[in-house]
Amino acid sequence: QKVEEKLYQNRYLVDAGQPHIKIAPHEKPSKNLLAMTHLCPAGCYSEAETGQVEIAADGCLECGTCRVLCEPSGEISWNYPRGGYGILFKFG
Ligand code: SF4
Repeated sequence: QKVEEKLYQNRYLVDAGQPHIKIAPHEKPSKNLLAMTHLCPAGCYSEAETGQVEIAADGCLECGTCRVLCEPSGEISWNYPRGGYGILFKFG
């Protein structure tokens, strides 16, 4: 089974108005932040026409990649979604 098919089995509950990942305002993204537009397995990060990086955290798999690469520098803030929200992994 392909990973896309497995991902499709997971459900995602959006916590409206409470994104669990936020990007700090920036003029230009760092290399790490820009790299997230390619690295995020859920495709949450995108580059705007202005060159800034945006996030739509819906569908985030909580893999932690962006947290490791961009949180220490303060470029993003990262919290687990509130209980019951976010990715609901389905096993088997
Ligand atoms: Fe993407 Fe992983 Fe960061 Fe979620 S934690 S936004 S899936 S890189």
